[in-house]
Amino acid sequence: MRVVLPNSSGEEGKSGLVDFFAVQVAFLLFESIFCFVSAVLSAVKNSRDVKAKHAVVFLNVLAGFMLLFDYLTYILPGRVTPFSSLVMQVSTLAVFLICDLFLVAIIIYESIVLFGHFDLKREQRCRFRFLTCCMLSVVGMGMVVISHFSGLYYTIDAENFYHRGDLFPLSVLIPVTGMAIIFSILLQYRKETTTSRFLALTSYIVFPLVGFLFQYFFYGFAYMDIGVAASVHVMFIENIIYQNRQIRIAERTDIRTGLSNEHGCIEWIHTKKSDMKNYAAVYFDLTKFTLLNRKYGVDVGNHILSAYASAFAAELDPDEFMGHPNADQFIVLVKKKNLPEILEKLKGVRVQFKDDTGTELTESIAARAGVYEISREEIKGEEVVTYARTALNHARSMGKETVYMTQELMDAIETRRRFDSDIRYALSHDEFIPFYQPKVNSKTNTLCGAEALARWIHNGQIVDPGDFIPIMERNDSICDLDMYMLRKICADIAAWRKEGVEIPPISVNFSRRNLADPDLAKKIDAVVRESGIPKNLIEIEITETVDEFPLSVLKSFVDALHDLGYGASIDDFGCGNSSMSVLREINFDTMKIDKGFIDRDHSKDLTILDHIIKLAIDIGLKIVAEGVEQPSQVETLRALGANVIQGYYYDRPLPKEKMSERLQNPKYDKE
Ligand code: C2E
Ligand code: CA
Ligand code: CA
Repeated sequence: MRVVLPNSSGEEGKSGLVDFFAVQVAFLLFESIFCFVSAVLSAVKNSRDVKAKHAVVFLNVLAGFMLLFDYLTYILPGRVTPFSSLVMQVSTLAVFLICDLFLVAIIIYESIVLFGHFDLKREQRCRFRFLTCCMLSVVGMGMVVISHFSGLYYTIDAENFYHRGDLFPLSVLIPVTGMAIIFSILLQYRKETTTSRFLALTSYIVFPLVGFLFQYFFYGFAYMDIGVAASVHVMFIENIIYQNRQIRIAERTDIRTGLSNEHGCIEWIHTKKSDMKNYAAVYFDLTKFTLLNRKYGVDVGNHILSAYASAFAAELDPDEFMGHPNADQFIVLVKKKNLPEILEKLKGVRVQFKDDTGTELTESIAARAGVYEISREEIKGEEVVTYARTALNHARSMGKETVYMTQELMDAIETRRRFDSDIRYALSHDEFIPFYQPKVNSKTNTLCGAEALARWIHNGQIVDPGDFIPIMERNDSICDLDMYMLRKICADIAAWRKEGVEIPPISVNFSRRNLADPDLAKKIDAVVRESGIPKNLIEIEITETVDEFPLSVLKSFVDALHDLGYGASIDDFGCGNSSMSVLREINFDTMKIDKGFIDRDHSKDLTILDHIIKLAIDIGLKIVAEGVEQPSQVETLRALGANVIQGYYYDRPLPKEKMSERLQNPKYDKE
């Protein structure tokens, strides 16, 4: 508020090198804009605490208006038009009113920060003091209005200059008293909020208060406005810090249970440093949670999960930790001496909850656990979590209640991991090659086809598929291998064609995992066409088991192959559990009878084999008998009508060069 200094002639502030008047005016305008901008930013920000957000917006808008009106009272004195006088009057009145209204805005914000809500009903803590502040605010504003017309607090002269009135000290006393009350509440309940929030609130009270008092004794300078502006800045910065902290907490928290998630767990381990060697990590999952979810529904299931978490966490020591990494899995970090007790507890935690109808129920929930007893001082949180989780995975696959992560298990995991990366390396460095196992017509003893089988040339040794296919199926690199093999096989066929030898159809194995790709048939076709070989030289082998995908997916794939001009063969027929439905639903061209049927020569097996072969012939399938080793087996198969034989009886899988020789000499010297 610009005032007339004793002996002033409207030249005040223009002394010295710095034009203080201009600085003040610019400052007020800038700060006013800042307050409005920060109000808008607060309003549009996504905040979980909507009440606090609204209170901050209210405070900033008030501060913005106060600074704006005060700015006007600085630039208007000396201007004597009716409009300037009116604006001067209104602005002065507004500044005084806002000073009192601030009390209400601050108590609302303070109450929300400290107690989470604000209302003046009976339950409100510090209700009396809050009510007193509200009354002071109302009385203060009433007095301002009265004084405006009676000149008690201030007068504005004909030149538009402001003068303090006799009762001006009262206009200061009312808000100062209110602020003191507000400050007393803050001091009393400072533990209810974070230190930074407490300091921000303190600044919101103390800065304007000090400014106010300064202005009272040394008037002529906008001390109060500086105080208000400073506190808005502090609040703004603190809000950004607070929001960031909230985001960090949210990133580390599972919303369903309020427990830390995996990030939080890793961070907790990090803070414990070398202390961790006294701890054990237990990663566990609730054995019948899926069942409970199905029985009571997902919402009740979530309540059960929270109730379980609270019941279990309540049993832990204060320096132990419980986290909820995902779904029905938890992790606890407990002192080693408490481990036996915790494992005992995992056998059954009684959880109370309400079902949809509100009925109180109790369930005893057991868990399966993986345990890792930390033995190293320098260990990363990620490692602890991985070891415990891997132990749990082992417990699950072995059907055990509890599995401890041991050195041997860790070594095995490490070996697998290394093997995994070796396989990936092998794929990108051409270490896989196709071998070819001939299929022979046993009536004529002539080559009539071949199956391509992958071999891995690893450190100079030939590795058989049994050692890498299961791993590749697990990490999905099998799909890359199958496409890679197809390319190699097409290239070999193209080379043989150049040599002028006659080539029978070659079958290529495709893992069922490939069925996830709806464009698989098209991709196969693209590779074959690119190599320039005739399509009828390639046949696709796929196993019958349809555990992962519905039969319709396999059917679409086989239909697409047919549309594109390729044959499809059903591998290992008789192994799976859906053989008959596969035959009914899908139009395969060839049936490969599993080695298992051919090995056994019980009369019952022979009867089944006989029926399978008859069935295949009836529905127009070609038959290949696999894994044939003995002359007697060839005899039997011949008698049953299965003439195409693939097995050691004729040939083992052959490297490309040996297969070239076989192609040039397709007649076998057998009976
Ligand atoms: P499969 O497709 O059933 O291939 C037949 C397997 O039986 C081959 O084993 C072959 O060497 C073996 N075998 C053939 N005749 C006889 C015999 O008379 N006696 C005995 N004891 N075994 C015989 P291999 O080459 O070790 O391949 C094993 C499996 O690996 C294959 O079984 C196939 O499922 C898979 N596989 C091989 N190469 C590939 C490939 O490129 N892609 C995919 N997805 N799987 C492949
Ligand atoms: Ca096969
Ligand atoms: Ca097979």
